[in-house]
Amino acid sequence: MQNIYNYSLIDLEKYFESINEKKFKAKQIYDWLYIKRINDFNLMTNIKKELRQNLKENFKLDFIKITKIQRSPLTNKYLFELLDGNFIEAVLMRHDYGNSICVSSQVGCNMGCKFCESGRLKKVRNLETYEIVEQILLVESDIKERIDSVVIMGIGEPFDNYNNIMNFINIINSPYGTNIGARHITISTCGLIPKIKEFMNCNLQVNLAISLHAPNNTIRNSIMPVNKAYSINELIECLKQYIEKTNRRVTIEYVMLNNVNDSIDNAIELSHLLKGMNVYVNLIPYNETSNIIFEKSNKETILRFYDTLKKNKINVTIRREFGSNIDAACGQLRAKEGEKI
Ligand code: SF4
Repeated sequence: MQNIYNYSLIDLEKYFESINEKKFKAKQIYDWLYIKRINDFNLMTNIKKELRQNLKENFKLDFIKITKIQRSPLTNKYLFELLDGNFIEAVLMRHDYGNSICVSSQVGCNMGCKFCESGRLKKVRNLETYEIVEQILLVESDIKERIDSVVIMGIGEPFDNYNNIMNFINIINSPYGTNIGARHITISTCGLIPKIKEFMNCNLQVNLAISLHAPNNTIRNSIMPVNKAYSINELIECLKQYIEKTNRRVTIEYVMLNNVNDSIDNAIELSHLLKGMNVYVNLIPYNETSNIIFEKSNKETILRFYDTLKKNKINVTIRREFGSNIDAACGQLRAKEGEKI
């Protein structure tokens, strides 16, 4: 039996048609689930009794549950327990322009980025769509406010769970559901080229962010094993095609690791690599963890790197540091929970 939060509006309409019911019932169900936030078929009073019975027999309404929340003024970090006992996490960030959430897409991750806490915990499985949708619903009900934007950048490589992620986007983007605009949704990938190409042909207004983190193959190979499968040059070539096809700007994520990728030479090399491309670089101060050997670059080094990119006419920002005091680097809360068990 499927969880109903796995269903896009179109799939639900198809279901109703398949049982000879009018397809507008799907919108009524969406209204109960996503607007009124009722997750009990018995309470869906505008649905006739026999149909409610049919829904009870064919759909689950199970929810993952919040098991821990770490709160700070600008950031909340949520640890969720899935129905099978696995843990995932999401981070809420409060910006001047609204609430943004970073959701997980897998239990663990197989990409093995050396600086990443989630990469230490190998992939156990992909998240089902409902497990990603419910991260948003539960956080909204905790803060009693709306989530305005979504970044798929928590635990996991979203393009390694491509179909469920596309379905998730379809659901949260629905004007009859949570109605989060496509331009307010960002997928962050470490660079799975075949999936970037597939995504580029979907004609979605969703943003793409690339975890680049290095200006050349030598450094990238040493911190991101995925680079051995899809080299930096192939990735940049693919991004050029993506930008040409979609006419959309791509975000380049670059985590600043002390003495690894943060020299002036590295900044110059990165500028050459990205020259003339419609990208902006997001420099991320590294969240140090107790388990991983990397250190964060110091402030002056980050500013020097930033200035060098600027001088070379690359759009660049430095990400505000969110929640290093509450383990907001991806995988950290879950890793701690895992250690306790
Ligand atoms: S940085 Fe992202 S892709 Fe890399 S191991 Fe961590 S979760 Fe996976």
